[in-house]
Amino acid sequence: MSGQQSGQRLGQRSGHEAQRTIHVGGQWRAAASGATRDVLDPADAKPFAVVAEGGVPDTDAAVEAARQAFDHGAWPRTPVTERAALLRRVADLLVRDRERLGLLESRDAGKTLEEGRVDIDCVADAFRYFADLVVGEGGGRVVDAGSDDIHSVVVHEPLGVCAMITPWNYPLLQASWKIAPALAAGNTFVVKPSEITPLTTVALIDLLVEAGLPAGVANIVTGPGHSVGARLAEHPDVDLVSFTGGLTSGTKVAQAAAVTVKKVALELGGKNPNVVFADACATEEGFDTAVDQALNAAFIHSGQVCSAGSRLIVEESVRDRFVTELARRAERIRLGRGTEEGVECGPLVSAEQREKTEGYVASALAEGAVLRTGGARPDPSDVRPATGYFYEPTVLDQCHREMRVVREEVFGPVLTVETFRTEDEAVALANDTEYGLAGGVWTADAGRARRVAGRLRHGTVWINDFHPYLPQAEWGGFGKSGVGRELGPAGLAEYRETKHVYQNLAPKPVRWFAG
Ligand code: NAD
Repeated sequence: MSGQQSGQRLGQRSGHEAQRTIHVGGQWRAAASGATRDVLDPADAKPFAVVAEGGVPDTDAAVEAARQAFDHGAWPRTPVTERAALLRRVADLLVRDRERLGLLESRDAGKTLEEGRVDIDCVADAFRYFADLVVGEGGGRVVDAGSDDIHSVVVHEPLGVCAMITPWNYPLLQASWKIAPALAAGNTFVVKPSEITPLTTVALIDLLVEAGLPAGVANIVTGPGHSVGARLAEHPDVDLVSFTGGLTSGTKVAQAAAVTVKKVALELGGKNPNVVFADACATEEGFDTAVDQALNAAFIHSGQVCSAGSRLIVEESVRDRFVTELARRAERIRLGRGTEEGVECGPLVSAEQREKTEGYVASALAEGAVLRTGGARPDPSDVRPATGYFYEPTVLDQCHREMRVVREEVFGPVLTVETFRTEDEAVALANDTEYGLAGGVWTADAGRARRVAGRLRHGTVWINDFHPYLPQAEWGGFGKSGVGRELGPAGLAEYRETKHVYQNLAPKPVRWFAG
């Protein structure tokens, strides 16, 4: 089936073909049980696609296909140059289908169309980056064993069958950070996308097939976390499980994986500080940029971003001016269906996610936070479609570290404001989280920027910026934000075994035993 056909298939709401979203051993199929799931468009809460609701039998079949392809197929032994060429073909196909996939991502996850397009560009970048990396690094590392008679070399080999479990906020991007390095390294895989947003990952499998990936290397099971995800995590024939999602599910995945001692990579949540020093606001331009970026940090994709800068930690002397301007601009953010012209923020992904957000705002207000803007669903007459899961960008002032809204990940458009007087205090507040994914520092003082960046216990620190990432630079978290890294050389290493091969060219008895 071509990528084009796949797009049509996923655009349909019913019919036999629409439900064949499980790919096992090179074949598209429906769930063994025949079960299906409607995929909702969060902008109007109406179903717009149907996928197979896979279960344990589908998962077992997919793992078996991946195992066969790894143990007996050609892919793990395919020269890296050929593997890299295939990854580059996939990148080209992503560029070809950018509009279709960007639109699909926008509708499925509720993001703006432009965000959907950018996501697809970033997915293509990931495929290109890992193609370049795997070819550029050369083979093995020779170790000097101190003798001409010993040839000692450390080599990397593919791990085996990789299971990948992904979330709904950046569906294809998160999948690509796993699939591209896994393929570059020569593995086979089974991916389970979020049951809320499976569509672009299904479409990617079509592109992998079109690019020429052998049958059985890429497998997908659409279905729920408690059955498909849990089975992948515990399955004895899976060598690695790479999970991106929330702390609660990630902990369960790690526990299940421990029983078979499989390798585990976890990309979990964040409660990310955005620290603004007064000196960053000393000029009008500096002030404007810091406010603009604080909005971007907190509200892009309605705050449903693992690295969302959801904690504004601002120096007390500029707090009033800063928060007043921030709230003024937040109030003007245009909500609506992501595909509509001029819309800046889409809906939350589900009714559940909106209710969770409402609960956090209610608890913050009960604990003494001061609402500067937002804090409610928009008036139905102000937003189209009125049935979507919209929630107003919300700024909560006078927050402190004991509040639930400051400690826990909301994953909605909610920004809390805390203040500090000294650099030490700013660092202590920014580090006062069980997470440690990312943080921002705004200052005009280069020395302070480097000092504070050095003291932050977060996997990524942005100085005078927020949110950019580079495929060449590792992404991941300190503390409960995860285990391991994606992207960069470490993101490839996750998908490899390291083997030391020691060859004695002049073997002699060691006579340890008199014999
Ligand atoms: P989630 O934990 O609810 O679900 C993530 C995935 O895990 C889904 O595919 C789900 O079906 C599956 N799952 C659920 N229970 C499972 C179980 N018991 N065993 C195996 N799999 C299971 O997360 P979500 O709501 O989809 O995504 C939001 C979370 O993801 C946030 O916490 C966010 O911070 C995090 N996230 C982190 C990063 C990162 O790079 N660190 C990136 C994106 C999202």
